[in-house]
Amino acid sequence: MIRIQSVAPDSLGAELALVPGTELLAVNGRALEDFLDWEFLTADERFVLAARLPTGEAVEYDIERPEGLPMGVTLEPPRIRRCANHCDFCFVDGNPQGMREPLYIRDDDYRLSFRYGNFATLTNLKPWDVERIIEYRLSPLYVSVHATEPTIRRWLLRNPEAPEIVSQLRGFAARGIAFHTQVVLVPGVNDGAELVRTLTDLYGLGAAVLSVSVVPVALTEFSKRRLVREPTREECRAALATVDRFATRALAERGVPWCYGADDLYLQAGEALPAAEWYGDFEQRENGVGSVRYLQTRIAAARGRLPDLAGKRVGVVTGAAMGPLLPAVLEDLTAATSARFELVVIENTLFGPTVTTAGLLPAAAIERALAGRRGAPARSHAPVV
Ligand code: SF4
Repeated sequence: MIRIQSVAPDSLGAELALVPGTELLAVNGRALEDFLDWEFLTADERFVLAARLPTGEAVEYDIERPEGLPMGVTLEPPRIRRCANHCDFCFVDGNPQGMREPLYIRDDDYRLSFRYGNFATLTNLKPWDVERIIEYRLSPLYVSVHATEPTIRRWLLRNPEAPEIVSQLRGFAARGIAFHTQVVLVPGVNDGAELVRTLTDLYGLGAAVLSVSVVPVALTEFSKRRLVREPTREECRAALATVDRFATRALAERGVPWCYGADDLYLQAGEALPAAEWYGDFEQRENGVGSVRYLQTRIAAARGRLPDLAGKRVGVVTGAAMGPLLPAVLEDLTAATSARFELVVIENTLFGPTVTTAGLLPAAAIERALAGRRGAPARSHAPVV
């Protein structure tokens, strides 16, 4: 069962007198479990919907609508599928205490992987989940592989039950499902020869594996540092050399680099980022792969539409990771707007200095960094990159 959260005015849903709180029970006799069922089972122009109004009244609607006309209902958020793993490097476990409850949810949900590009490990799939992925063609999925050698993957996920990922992916690939994949690089565990093995196995799965990213493990002050550590500069360089070897081969054989280092891997290795063209459609930009180049291409594309800000000062707040990379971006912005950009690089006082992502900066640290700056507002409105 799923429940309606809101109904758009003048929509088909409003015309049918659907209201917030209405329970959507079944479509054409098939029980509705979540938003996926709702979207896929109501895709036809004609269907029968069984619902229960907040008054308790059961109603059946025989719906016929022109193709593409949306129902206009928003559903209550789904119950997040919880993670069955216990990775030493889990960022959720690396949260300090006393934060908002949802920040402690360890999600591992193939539905969110399909819809939003969240990475999932596929270790918690039930047989009916597998059937749904195939039936609804949930493709591409974003999958955390980490290592293809089963024992090493189970060790990394701290899950002795984790199924073999290569046969799992192969099974899906045979049914038309494709993947973007990632390897979180944990030094001494899945780097070196294991990284080569993982990339070889993934490459061997052919066109179904659309891309693989190699991301250095990120830890907070509260992570299980006795058990896991960040890679050194040399280890990042070695990983990048492996990434380059596979990318060169893929470029020659498939026309795309296929294997990408995360921006952070280049940063930690002290090596220059590839040009924007390297990243194609930037499909893993939300995973920190090509995000800097993506931002630059967005600025370039918006060039003619950016306002003239001559004589203005603009503060740009960011974390330590982007600190060295942003001057090139701000140079583009200065040329496009004539504003004077001031870069403010802030250390993370909540998660510790090793967490260098701008998106994880606490507001208090930003406020402190901006306090006393001439022209700074009482509470910060400077953009965070
Ligand atoms: S898969 Fe690992 S890192 Fe991801 S939520 Fe689960 S325990 Fe955390």
